[in-house]
Parts: sequence; C-alpha cells; structure tokens
Amino acid sequence: MYVFAEDLAEGVDQVLDRITGYGAAGVTIAAAYHQTRDVTPHGATRLTVRHDGVRFPLPDGLFGRLLPPLQPPLPLAELTRPGLARHGWTVFLRNAAIGALHPEVTVRNCFGDRGSPADLCPAHPDVREYAVALARAVARQGFDSVVAEDLHFRPFSQERCAVPLGPMDAFLFGLCFCHHCLRRAADLGVNAEVAREECGRIVGGVLDGDPPAQGEVTRAALTAYAGPEVVAYARARSETVTTLVAEVSAAVTEEGSTLTFTDGTGGAKGYADGLPPAGLAAHDAWQLGVDLVALGDIVPSFAVLAFARDAARVADDIAAYQRSVGKDRELRAVLRPGAPDIAALGETDATDRLAAKVRAAKAAGATAVDFYAYGLAPLNTLARIKNSLG
Ligand SMILES: [Zn+2]
Repeated sequence: MYVFAEDLAEGVDQVLDRITGYGAAGVTIAAAYHQTRDVTPHGATRLTVRHDGVRFPLPDGLFGRLLPPLQPPLPLAELTRPGLARHGWTVFLRNAAIGALHPEVTVRNCFGDRGSPADLCPAHPDVREYAVALARAVARQGFDSVVAEDLHFRPFSQERCAVPLGPMDAFLFGLCFCHHCLRRAADLGVNAEVAREECGRIVGGVLDGDPPAQGEVTRAALTAYAGPEVVAYARARSETVTTLVAEVSAAVTEEGSTLTFTDGTGGAKGYADGLPPAGLAAHDAWQLGVDLVALGDIVPSFAVLAFARDAARVADDIAAYQRSVGKDRELRAVLRPGAPDIAALGETDATDRLAAKVRAAKAAGATAVDFYAYGLAPLNTLARIKNSLG
C-alpha cells in the first residue's frame, strides 16, 4: 500500500491496522516527495498540502550543492509490524524548491526557456550527484527497497495553454536542450543543434497559428513530422537516463537495499480518467528517456503504473513490460482501487472489477500488486482491497 507521510497524522497504529487488515504485506511510505495539494477523504485534514522535501535528517557527507528541503521526519520506529515490509517511496527529479533556488539545473526547451522549476534535468552533473545522494540517504533509513519515481525525463507540462498543441507538439516542447543534454547527444553522434532548430521551427509555427500535429507520438509519426535528427535526439536521452539509473541502483545496493524503478509513462497515460490511449506504456517509455530493455539488465525490480479501467489493458501493459525487462525481474503492478479506474459501479461489481485486475496482473506476470494510495481513496474504496485479494 502506498502511504503518504501526512496520512500518518491519522495515527500510525490506525493506519497500519487498516492496511494490514486489507491484506497488505508491505507499506510504501513517501520518504521524499513533491509539493502538491490533495483531497484526503479520511485524513486528519480533508485538504492536504504537501511540500517538496525529505522525511528524515540528512546523513553527513552525502549531498553536494543541491539539498532537499527537510520536512518533519517519519516515525520510522513506530512504523513497523512483524512481517510488514517497508519501502521508501522516493521522488527524484521533481522538486520545485531545488529548481527555484538553482534554475540552472532545470530543463531548458528548444527556445532556451527554463519554464519548469520542478523538472530537474537528469543530464546535469549536480542533479546526478543529488539523485545518487538521495538514493543512498533513503536506503540508509533501513527500507527494504527504494521505490524510485521520476528518475527520468518528465513530460511537457504547463498550467495554462490556449494554443491547441497536438501530442507531438507537446512532446517537442518538452524536450530538454540544456547545455548538458546537447553535449550528451552530440557525443552519441546526433546533430543536436539541427534537432533543436527543427523543434523550434515546428513548435514556434504552431504557436504562431500553424495547425497542430494530429495523432499520438510514435517514432514513425515523429520522423515524418519532425525529421530523423529530432528522433535521434529524443532517443539519445535514454543513455542519460540509463546511466543515471545504473548509478542510483548500484548506490542503493551498496547501502544494503534494492531499487524498484517506476516508469511514469503508464501513470501519465491513464492518470486523468483511467482510459489510456492505445499505445502500451512499455512501448512509449522511450519518450521519457526510459529504455526498459537496457534497464532490465541493471534494475532488479519494476513498478508498473497500471492506471486503467480495463483488466485486459492491465494485463497487456504488464505483459509488455515483462517482455522488455525480462522474466526474472520483480514486476509490481500498481492499481488504483477506486475512481477513476473503478467508478460508477455498485460495490459488488467494483470489488469484482478490482479482483479481475489483480488476477489479470498476476496472470500476465506481475509478482506483486500495490495499491495507490491510502490517503487519496475513501475508506469504503480501500475496504474492497481485502475482498479483491481474497
Ligand atoms: Zn537537459
């Protein structure tokens, strides 16, 4: 069960009693998280403000120039039950507090804008040093695993946009062309400057009134729309991410823990309504710089964000991940027990639907099922987990 640090304000014993009562064999607790505001139906507050930062004192000597803000520490001594595994949920490259203090480590688009303070660039050496330090620090808290979120490039985002951007326009707008990304691509033989100019020409055209791109992002469609140099540039981002994940995974292993890598692709696809577009997450992960085949040789465990209403889609996503990362890797299916993945059903049907998704995930190769998230779901939604597992 995924649990936010703020959820524990309900009382650690109450939270653990409930989740073990649902049948959870482990708790994945947010040890390093990002700022957001959530409706928390059964929380100590009904609207909960979360902040960027970590939930433990920083160990001496690990961190360099970039430091995470400190939030009130987790009550780790109380957060134990016999037989209950503890995983440290760790958000890596999404941190607006660090980005606001150090804009030079954030992503920079084809126009040269640093528009996303929360998006730290995985190519920047200081960000890479930060990620390894953060991983070591979380592992040292004694967690059975470090569950990595946002340890890759992030999709394009903004708060307001009155221009009808197509998916490919948004993808191009989100590519980072910072000094370090340009150099890494050039080192791999990509004409990075041509890629940047093409992105600027296309996105600039749409901002000036050209019709937006039609259709989802695929390599073939992107090649036709933006040319081979842009595709080569986008694919070169995988080397940046793979090498970073390798460093982080090695550091976590050295600290006596183990890394679970979460690819945000599936989350982004189905997050809003549980109706992901046709392309499977494993096939589109390259768009965030995630090369699952390469990571399968490096990382022992993967969490798949199976945010979908349809049990068959959950199975398809899990199976595609397994084909990419290999059969011997741990594969954890992350399911949402309620809305929007399960909505507008009576309780019996809702429980059956969740049970069908658990069965589908297992049959497709998942070795564990995780539920997201304790603090976000109403209590009656959480209660159906027990019956769905039965
Ligand atoms: Zn960059």
